[in-house]
Amino acid sequence: MGHTWAVSDTTKREDSLHEAANAQIRRAADLIDLKPEYRLILSEPENEVVVNFPVRLDSGELRMFRGYRIQHNNVLGPYKGGLRFHPDVDLDEVKALAAWMTFKCSLVGLPYGGAKGGVTVNPREYSDRELERLVRRFTHQLGDTIGPEIDIPAPDVGTNAQMMDWIMDTYANVSGPGGRQQLRGVVTGKSVAVGGSVGREAATGQGVLYALRHWCGETGQRLAGLKVSIQGFGNVGSHFARLAALEGCVIVAAADHTATLANHDGIDVPALFDYARTNRRIRGFEKADEIETEELFDIPVDAFVPAALENQITAERAHRMSCRVIVEAANGPTTATAEQTLMGKGVEIIPDVLANAGGVVVSYFEWLQNQSGRSWRVDDVDSRLREIIWDANDKVVRMKAQLGCSHREAAYAVSLTRLADVYDRRGIFP
Ligand code: NAD
Repeated sequence: MGHTWAVSDTTKREDSLHEAANAQIRRAADLIDLKPEYRLILSEPENEVVVNFPVRLDSGELRMFRGYRIQHNNVLGPYKGGLRFHPDVDLDEVKALAAWMTFKCSLVGLPYGGAKGGVTVNPREYSDRELERLVRRFTHQLGDTIGPEIDIPAPDVGTNAQMMDWIMDTYANVSGPGGRQQLRGVVTGKSVAVGGSVGREAATGQGVLYALRHWCGETGQRLAGLKVSIQGFGNVGSHFARLAALEGCVIVAAADHTATLANHDGIDVPALFDYARTNRRIRGFEKADEIETEELFDIPVDAFVPAALENQITAERAHRMSCRVIVEAANGPTTATAEQTLMGKGVEIIPDVLANAGGVVVSYFEWLQNQSGRSWRVDDVDSRLREIIWDANDKVVRMKAQLGCSHREAAYAVSLTRLADVYDRRGIFP
């Protein structure tokens, strides 16, 4: 109890996301009496790579961009984590996201450490040709920071399979001959045609649904008929919505950065999914009512699924929310004070490191396929994904009962226990 944690400059900010992530870990570390030296190691990333690089725009103008790759910990295996392209990307955010990857990979038993990266850019403001130049130059600038056995990026907010294909192609072209098949494993979330895995695109949403189904089993209720609201209708939110609707969930509200839509009888999700694909937004979809942004948090539902960005469920919104479970598809969507409010109201929170781990699990499958030169069938991917996510949920529920703590604390306790065991055996170099 009361151990000192090293904090860097960015964590001095009152609203530091990295400090919020560290605080979550501290609570679980106390519960399992984690050795102080492991706490110290895990409180800071191992490597912080910041690059500034030029990109020629279609107009001929040259613009500078800032990119990050933060490698938090690799005691379990190569660093692994997504790349985010968003105007709010900064060092503090990427450090928090990288730490969460370490705990997520540990929790679900993958042979990976944690990392995250990104570029401070609004990709919607650039043409595909400009984005291709940006992605390739960023990849080149990262150099040996990434590699199939070193650090393996993947898609996150604002990035997609096409961008992963450009990263792989750039890396393969500058890496010299030999091991061309294995080199494809430098990045996951690629298009299936160039070495991606079937099932990767939907995997995070699929995992979120498994977590919700597991909660239904724990609490003795049926998934079919559950009323659900979703914030964020990108990769994770839209696939979750599609799969949940197939299982009979009633999606009563869905929001993205352009609009919030509601339909008390349930939104026609396949139609909204197609609309969002074509238009890259949900505004303008006519088969639901457009409501005010804040009204999303006033609609009573069984399950609320944040699938956009961090800190969306604030204390003020938490007071207004009426739901039984929050399944954190996004990373860090609930502030610490909001969590207190929600727990006081008896709302269960399935934490991000557990709820959204499906993406990195299928990324791992993709990496294995690249290493072996074999492709798996979609039912193999689905059944193995389900097994891993189900097992992790079982472990968390058991730990929760054992420690008498929250779902989040239990998830971190499972994760930290594995990390501590590996450190105990390996020791601290030198
Ligand atoms: P994405 O870029 O595909 O979609 C993000 C969505 O959030 C978009 O629909 C956007 O309009 C919406 N959004 C942004 N700001 C919003 C706001 N203020 N209100 C409402 N909606 C808003 O990103 P994604 O890959 O779906 O990632 C979503 C979340 O899931 C992130 O927290 C990400 O870190 C997490 N996550 C993603 C993956 C993955 O495999 N892509 C894996 C694990 C976790």
